[in-house]
Amino acid sequence: MDTFYLDHAATTPMRAVAADTWMEHAQALNPGGQYGSGRRARSVVDTAREEIAELLGCEPIEVIFTASGTEADNLAIQGLYRASPMNRIVSTPIEHPGVLETVKALGTEGAQVDLLPMGGDGRVSSFEALAQPAAVATMMWANNETGAIQPVEQFIAAAGETPTHIDAVQVVGHLPVDFHALGATTLAASAHKFGGPRGVGLLLARRSPAPSAVLHGGGQERGIRPGTLDVAGAAATAAALREAVAEIDTELARLSALRDRLYDGILSLIDNVLVHTTEPALPGHLHLSFPGAEGDSLIMLFDSMRIEASTGSACSNGVNRASHVLLAMGISESDARGAIRFTLGRTTTEADVEAVLTVITDVVARARTAGLA
Ligand code: PLP
Repeated sequence: MDTFYLDHAATTPMRAVAADTWMEHAQALNPGGQYGSGRRARSVVDTAREEIAELLGCEPIEVIFTASGTEADNLAIQGLYRASPMNRIVSTPIEHPGVLETVKALGTEGAQVDLLPMGGDGRVSSFEALAQPAAVATMMWANNETGAIQPVEQFIAAAGETPTHIDAVQVVGHLPVDFHALGATTLAASAHKFGGPRGVGLLLARRSPAPSAVLHGGGQERGIRPGTLDVAGAAATAAALREAVAEIDTELARLSALRDRLYDGILSLIDNVLVHTTEPALPGHLHLSFPGAEGDSLIMLFDSMRIEASTGSACSNGVNRASHVLLAMGISESDARGAIRFTLGRTTTEADVEAVLTVITDVVARARTAGLA
């Protein structure tokens, strides 16, 4: 039985090339070993690192393998904060919890946290707070819920001498990224968002200023992410990124067309829809609210029809709350609770879009009848 998977921003199926590469190197031993098997493992990691560096516009030494995007965000933000004599952090209220909770935790340790203001379009509306120096300024490149692409270049320019961390987890593999041209100090990515394995993240980190060690151990990955390296994961990530980057232009056009079809169809079928995704946005994102309906009801009703979508906000223990992103955009709590996010990706076809359009009138009517809990 077909499933219509429309939650690609949460995670996207692993590419065949990544799975094959992973299998090829699954038996690799310790790349830190000084003997033959170690050197062979090391050479696989070196090749993966070089390839990732070339694809993302940085030097191989600037590529640090981590265990997730969340870990890359933590190592960068905490590490840059600890490397600085200052105690101020600038961020935004729409960050993924990997950043938001890290910043909050540093706040409880005594950091002064200033969040940039948001516009109703889900983008930062003023960079004034960056005029004063800080230990680190951190912002996402594109929002995981709305898909809104943020003005990262302006952010980095406004930060001046303040080190900047960019959470590019939703962007890497989907839009062109050139780390050196961007000028950020650090940048986070996550392999499972572009068809690599889950459990592999990337931290790009300039030589200076470098994040101080947050994890302590054997000194691997410039001492920023110690621990024996996952050779198969690194190689599979490079393979997935190579294919994803090669497809950027064609996928942008294909996904935008499918997303526009979904958008037009929904707006022609349903009254009173709030659209949270505004351009410029990631091509596969469509985040909407159906006021009067509960996001959880929408998701369960769609799920019963084998259509898989989410509210897009990180949920704890599967319980959805009004999204902090939508609240920061000025959406009311009740409207925010009626949100659902469709995210299209590499395996999405017209059949997925048509599946949603076939049932959505009934789904929204039933969810609105059930109302807000
Ligand atoms: N940052 C953003 C913008 C994300 O969308 C996500 C994942 O949803 C993360 C960070 C965390 O990535 P990971 O799941 O690899 O920890």
